Amino acid sequence: MKKMEVMTLAMKPNILILGGGYGGIVTATKLTKELGVNEVNITLVSKHEYHYQTTWLHEPAAGTLDVDRARMPINSLIDENKVKFIQGEAEQVHPEEKKVSLANGEQLEYDYLVVSVGAIPETFGVGGVFEHSFNKWTVNGARELKEHTEYMFAKYNNDPRDEYVTFIVAGAGFTGIEYIGELSERVPELCKKYDVPLNKVKMYVIEAAPSALPGFDPELVEYAMNLLENRGVEFKINTPISEVTAEGVVLKGGEEIKSETVIWATGVRGNPIIEKSGFENMRARVKVDKDLRAPGHEDVFIIGDCALIINEEINRPYPPTAQIAIQQGETVAKNLAALIKGGQLQEFKPDIKGTVASLGGKEAIGVVGDKKLFGSSASFMKKMIDNRSLWILGGTGLVLKKGKNPF
Ligand code: NAD
Repeated sequence: MKKMEVMTLAMKPNILILGGGYGGIVTATKLTKELGVNEVNITLVSKHEYHYQTTWLHEPAAGTLDVDRARMPINSLIDENKVKFIQGEAEQVHPEEKKVSLANGEQLEYDYLVVSVGAIPETFGVGGVFEHSFNKWTVNGARELKEHTEYMFAKYNNDPRDEYVTFIVAGAGFTGIEYIGELSERVPELCKKYDVPLNKVKMYVIEAAPSALPGFDPELVEYAMNLLENRGVEFKINTPISEVTAEGVVLKGGEEIKSETVIWATGVRGNPIIEKSGFENMRARVKVDKDLRAPGHEDVFIIGDCALIINEEINRPYPPTAQIAIQQGETVAKNLAALIKGGQLQEFKPDIKGTVASLGGKEAIGVVGDKKLFGSSASFMKKMIDNRSLWILGGTGLVLKKGKNPF
C-alpha cells in the first residue's frame, strides 16, 4: 500500500455499531448506501453471529415455528466488503475516551458510535424472577422454554402432578398475550402427543393492571380475551404477582399458584450497558435528543429499546418496538452521513403504521391507521408486517427464505 493510501485509510472516520438487532442491522445496511468504503470504516459488533426476529420469538417458544425461521446469519444481511462484523459482547462505553470495552477484554475505538443493544426483562423488584421463571426472549430462551414445555407434558403421565401442566404467564402486555396465543393453540396437539387429558392443562395469564393489554382498544381486548378463554386460558386481572418461587407464583394478597412453568412477560428495561457507561437514563433508557444523539455526546447515537422518545401528543414515551427501531436506524444512517459529509441532521419522527398482535393460528387483533382488525384479516396483516421486516433487513431473497404465508 502506498503512503498516501495508508494516510487516507487512517483518516477515515470509524463508525462503530453495537448490536445486531433491528436498529443495528438497519443502521449498518443503510449506512453503506449513504457512505462509501472510501469515506468511512463501519464496524458492527454483536453477541451472536446471527440476527433474530425478537417479535417472532413467542412462536418458537411455544413450539409453533422452528426457531431457525426466526434467525439469520448477520453476514447474510450485511455486505462484508463494506461492514466489518465482530462477534463480541459490548460491556461498557467510555465516552470520554471514545472506546468500547468488550467482554473478552478487547477495546474498540470509535469516532461515531451507535448504541443499539436492546433490552432485558423488567422485574419491577419482584423477587425470584431470574431464578425461577422463563424470562429470556432470545433464541436460546425460546429453545429452552419449548423443550421444557414438552418435557412437562412427557412427565405428567408418570407422575401426574398438576404443576407440570400448569402454565403461568406473568403480564398481559403484547408479549404475554402473543405467547399464550401460541401456547393455547398448541396445547391440544401436545395433549394428544403425550396422552394428557385437555382438562388437566391449566393456562393462566396474570396481569397487575385493571385490564389486559392496558391502553389498547377495549373492543379488541375483549375479542382477544374471549378467544383465549375459549381455548382454556384463565385471566387474573388486577392481580400483581409479588414473588416467583421454585413452586410457582405468589399473588398480592398471598394466594399461591403452583407451576413448574412461569413465563415472565411484564415488560422490558434498557440494556445495563447504558447504566454502566454513565449515560443519564431512566430504567436504562436514554432520553435522546431529537436527532437521536445522547444529550451531551455529539458522537453517540442511541436507538431501539435503549432510547427514550416522548410522544408529545400524549406526553408519554413511545413503546420500544421493532417498528421504531427500524425507523431510527434509517434516520441515524442519514444523520451520520450528514455529520461526515456535512449537512443538516434530521429530527426523528416515528411513523406509526399500527399495532397488530397475533393470537395463534389464524387469529390476531390490531389497529392499522384508524382501522380495527381482528380474526383472519388481522392475522393476514400480522404476517405481512413480519414479511415486511424481513424485506427491510434482507430484501426479497430473505422473504422467500424465511417469510410467512399470510393465507
Ligand atoms: P408491556 O409493558 O407492554 O406489558 C407488560 C404487562 O405486565 C403490563 O400490562 C403490566 O401491567 C404487567 N405487569 C407488570 N408487573 C406485573 C406483575 N408484577 N404482575 C403481573 N403483571 C405485571 O411489556 P411487553 O408485553 O413485554 O412489551 C414490551 C414492548 O414491546 C411494549 O412496548 C409492547 O408494545 C411491544 N410489543 C409489541 C408487540 C406487537 O406490536 N405485536 C408484541 C410484543 C411486544
